Amino acid sequence: MPAIILVSETRCPELADEFGRYTRDYDVQTATSAHEAKAAAKRVIADGGQVAMFVTESRLPDAEVLEAFHWWRGTVPTARRVIAAHVSMFREDAERLRGGMAKGKYDAYLLMPRGARDEEFHTAICELLSDWGSTVAEPEVVAVAIVSPVEDALTLGIRDYLDRMGMPNRVYAPDSDKGRYVIELHAAEGGEPDYPLVMDLGKRVGVARSVRDVAMRIYGQPADIDVDTVVDVAIVGAGPAGLAAAVYASSEGLSTVVLESEAIGGQAGTSSMIRNYLGFPRGISGMRLAQRARNQAIRFGTRFFTGWPVTSFEPGSVDDDGVPTPHVLCTDGGDVRARSVVVSAGVKYRRLDAPGIERLVGLGVHYGSAMTAAREMEGYDVIVVGGGNSAGQAAIHLARFARSVTILVRREKLADTMSSYLIGEIEYNPRISVQGCSEVVEGGPGDDGRLGWVTVRDIRDGTETRRDCRGLFLLIGAAPYCDWLPDAVARDERGFVLTGRDVPQDRWRGDLPPESLETTVPGVFAAGDIRAGSMKRVAAASGEGASVVSLVHAWLDPTR
Ligand SMILES: Cc1cc2nc3c(=O)[nH]c(=O)nc-3n(C[C@H](O)[C@H](O)[C@H](O)COP(=O)(O)OP(=O)(O)OC[C@H]3O[C@@H](n4cnc5c(N)ncnc54)[C@H](O)[C@@H]3O)c2cc1C
Repeated sequence: MPAIILVSETRCPELADEFGRYTRDYDVQTATSAHEAKAAAKRVIADGGQVAMFVTESRLPDAEVLEAFHWWRGTVPTARRVIAAHVSMFREDAERLRGGMAKGKYDAYLLMPRGARDEEFHTAICELLSDWGSTVAEPEVVAVAIVSPVEDALTLGIRDYLDRMGMPNRVYAPDSDKGRYVIELHAAEGGEPDYPLVMDLGKRVGVARSVRDVAMRIYGQPADIDVDTVVDVAIVGAGPAGLAAAVYASSEGLSTVVLESEAIGGQAGTSSMIRNYLGFPRGISGMRLAQRARNQAIRFGTRFFTGWPVTSFEPGSVDDDGVPTPHVLCTDGGDVRARSVVVSAGVKYRRLDAPGIERLVGLGVHYGSAMTAAREMEGYDVIVVGGGNSAGQAAIHLARFARSVTILVRREKLADTMSSYLIGEIEYNPRISVQGCSEVVEGGPGDDGRLGWVTVRDIRDGTETRRDCRGLFLLIGAAPYCDWLPDAVARDERGFVLTGRDVPQDRWRGDLPPESLETTVPGVFAAGDIRAGSMKRVAAASGEGASVVSLVHAWLDPTR
């Protein structure tokens, strides 16, 4: 059982009583000082256990509480850290300690409960434990079992997909009990012995040749929609913009289909902690935010097809009688016909043009923050390339697992490109260092075929240094996903979709520009990062996704 360590000089009995409701699932321990808590954490780790959370009073007998967090973090970087301040000190200590929370020194500043059923307090604790469970712990309840002798790029890809879809999963060795069980089940159904084998909740087993095999088996394919059906709105991309459009469209009675090439959540789904999204004072992992939005959309009737990129798009037209013909979105798993389309395909990461790197993608080299891969980095030295907020967040998340994280940037420092709260958090974290004026110019495998080394060049004097590296996380800017769009959808010189007044006058239909989120094709709208001039933030993308729905209504029924 993972441990929760409660720390207070005089109020351990009260805290232990308050945490009584967690004792079925957690080993709740108490300590009366910072040193005692550190020793308790060390014991848990030495016994092969995990520490999920430290909960401490705002004052301790042997250390400043922020200093104590620093020690505990050195012992268990992944544990969530909470202050439960006694009412007598709550206000006074808040002034002193809140700055540390903004810098990521701890996760929550709460008022110690003063009576039974303080659900506000326990909601905060449960959210933090749930967040810990989804990003750190191996799941206790497994929905999908993967059997594979190695954690190769395909196995990792399947795990990443399932994680992002909110499907608890685990990899089992073929000679483990579970591994043998799945292999026997597969053999009994006459299946070829091969790996990875995937068993879903319905105990159906199959060999996965690609991530899409798994997606199709669990969630179906666009061809499952009756060929004659024309849906009111088809949404391309299930990032925040597409998810918001889906929630609003389906909640307002429109038949809605979402086509997503990977898993839901888009870029936001790869973010370990979004701290500036309205209404989540303790932050929320992008994956959990996306899961909630998907469940919300499903409740209103949206159909999702994940693992199916739209490969081409034939815009509809108006026939001789003035009747509009549907737009057709094509995927390898079938076509979808729709009266209106929302393009919310977001952006993709630029590739690093350095010899040896591309063939190691998935084998230590990752684009984006790669939440699943972070767990594999335990004890290794890793490099994050990029100076934006996404690189900063990735470094902080990786530092929970890796021995060291180096952020490599071509500029001298991060101040021009990263938010100051992240820079503060990075400066405070002893495992993270920043190396300016540098770039990765080559990489290669170690003995096991995974990334083993990279060469880093100092761009001031051209000197090159080869260093050991097991993880390379590339967050080096992004370009829109627009290759599937026809020329009829006007884009700017970088490929971002033009909407509203940004459309040049020679592409207007008549005297007026398109509506604010409308493209140059009637009935086709764009929202989120793929739109020229967009803000590149979760809230902005979801706001546009919500706003686009009123334009869709107006297009579908101009008399409204
Ligand atoms: C690591 C990281 C951390 C971030 N942290 C923050 C933060 O803390 N706060 C904040 O406000 N913003 C943050 N951002 C930015 C934020 O995530 C984006 O602005 C937001 O996700 C944009 O949403 P979107 O829906 O427009 O596009 P995306 O999130 O890019 O989603 C687009 C989706 O479309 C899919 N797609 C692409 N092409 C096709 C196709 N042909 N067919 C079907 N599907 C397709 C993609 O797979 C993707 O899932 C972060 C970004 C990253 C990468």
